[in-house]
Amino acid sequence: MCGIVGIITKKQVPICSSLVQKLKLLEYRGYDSSGLAFLNKKNIKVCKSKGEIKNLEQKISAKDMGNIGIAHTRWATHGKPSVLNAHPFLSDDKNWAIVHNGIVENYLELKSSLANVNFCSQTDSEVIAKLLQTNAPHILALIDVCNKIKGSFAIVAINKLDNNTLFVAKRKSPIYVMQSSDEVIVASDTICFENTGKDYYTLLDDEFCEVSLDKIIFYDKTGKVIKKSKTLLKKSQNKFSKDNLPHFMLKEILEEKVAIKNIIDYCQNNGLKKINKSLVRKIKQIIFIGCGSAYHAGLIGAKLIERYAKIPSTCHIASEFRYAETDIKPGTVFVFISQSGETADTLANLELAKGFITIGVTNNMHSTLSRAVSICLDIMAGKEIAVASTKAYLAQVLMLYVLSRHLQNLKFNTKVDYLSHVLDLLNVFEDIDFKKLDDIAKFVANKSEVIFIGRDLDYYLALEASLKLKEVSYIPSFAVPSGELKHGYLAQVDNRTCVVGITTQKNLHSKTLSNVSEAHSRGGNIVVCSPFDIEQKYLKIDVPNIDNDLICLLVAQRLQYLAYRVSVIKGFNPDKPRNLAKSVTVE
Ligand code: GLU
Repeated sequence: MCGIVGIITKKQVPICSSLVQKLKLLEYRGYDSSGLAFLNKKNIKVCKSKGEIKNLEQKISAKDMGNIGIAHTRWATHGKPSVLNAHPFLSDDKNWAIVHNGIVENYLELKSSLANVNFCSQTDSEVIAKLLQTNAPHILALIDVCNKIKGSFAIVAINKLDNNTLFVAKRKSPIYVMQSSDEVIVASDTICFENTGKDYYTLLDDEFCEVSLDKIIFYDKTGKVIKKSKTLLKKSQNKFSKDNLPHFMLKEILEEKVAIKNIIDYCQNNGLKKINKSLVRKIKQIIFIGCGSAYHAGLIGAKLIERYAKIPSTCHIASEFRYAETDIKPGTVFVFISQSGETADTLANLELAKGFITIGVTNNMHSTLSRAVSICLDIMAGKEIAVASTKAYLAQVLMLYVLSRHLQNLKFNTKVDYLSHVLDLLNVFEDIDFKKLDDIAKFVANKSEVIFIGRDLDYYLALEASLKLKEVSYIPSFAVPSGELKHGYLAQVDNRTCVVGITTQKNLHSKTLSNVSEAHSRGGNIVVCSPFDIEQKYLKIDVPNIDNDLICLLVAQRLQYLAYRVSVIKGFNPDKPRNLAKSVTVE
């Protein structure tokens, strides 16, 4: 949430354009407003705009030359999206400008300690700028302010008395620093460093730094200088483009086959080697933790581990589990799932997992999660830009399937050739009737509510399909285990409702069809997603009949595409759903 960037250049450049270019790479983190500040003839100049970054781009002037600036793209936590609430914020004496990612939990208390100061926004972040009351351009000023803050922050600040330094602070929200011979960049995501240099610094919690062209000095929260080492930047193969397709979401659905191949390569190249027999002997239970789509992937993971490896497994919503006071038994292994590796709620649970073996499943091997866990599995789906997860969810599910079969082989000394199942999946992965799905999307688009039902793994797929649809189409939707429909939910069904029955498991097929029929008898409009034959009176999403659990990937792919089409038919931008953002770095 919120993307922040700071730049210092050796020469005078059109600084606003340079900042906006980098900011656009962070737009996935929030897009309700944006702003920038730079030093212009010894004064700080600020430009802000509501809405997407393209609005800010129209306001800036290419004539404004400079060598230092900061910028911010916002996902509001406190104060509605507006120009006034957009970052950066200025200190009272206008010497400092700051951008902030995170939440100042005690902002009301801090504000009331500043009795004579005028605030121009409703945000929590402005208090950081207003607390900067010394005009001395020194990191100690920022450290002092941060020591008063409860909550999370990544902050980049400039001071008008020093045109060669960015002041940086970090707690719980990510921030990285890269220095090349003629430029320094500080950013929320290493994506901003591609084409700049080869290695970068990662700030850890309660670390600070002063960054200039010739030196970077790191400090701890007492102001003591600390030493840090650099990390090599892994080249990503991703082009930051839609490849002539109308949306990233569509491009990313179409990239799922590559994501599957990458996981096959990963396994063939021993990617799971750290999960070995001696580790398996220690495992008494597995606890999966995730949010949103990652939680839904974890539900499938837990089920598959119980099915194949016979290890008791549960999956929990990260923001709930952290406060659940669960008694964690010796022999517990935690699996944390997060596309970005920066999901604040998920990371918060790392604290509970101290002393236990932890496994991360992430799409970002430069992330906080990847650094914190004992073993990290790289889902290698490639950068996902659309806010609604598609290929990363699918890759998470596949990685957990592979993990469950790998654990099975280790635990029972078997040699199940699970990769051959994945290769079989690839053969049918593109057998998808997009035209028919387009027609079904038209049918769904004008319904007042969509209820997804299924049993066992199909219920978990229903949860994800419902989330995807509501994220990008805003149609009210929920998922319910098929058998629960009659225990209350059926009251919702009328002739404006669409009920999507997911049924991929032979033994449960007739049961789910009975529940579909109950909804149909009450006027519900029915769609069935299944590899099996059904009555002609229902609309059908066909799924190739592969006889293993990987069928769930085929269902996910179809229902993602359905959600995408419904969004487009309704005239929305599926890549940037209202009120949402990717990489949820606040609680
Ligand atoms: N709390 C800040 C605001 O509402 C920053 C939000 C964020 O980082 O997501 O402006």
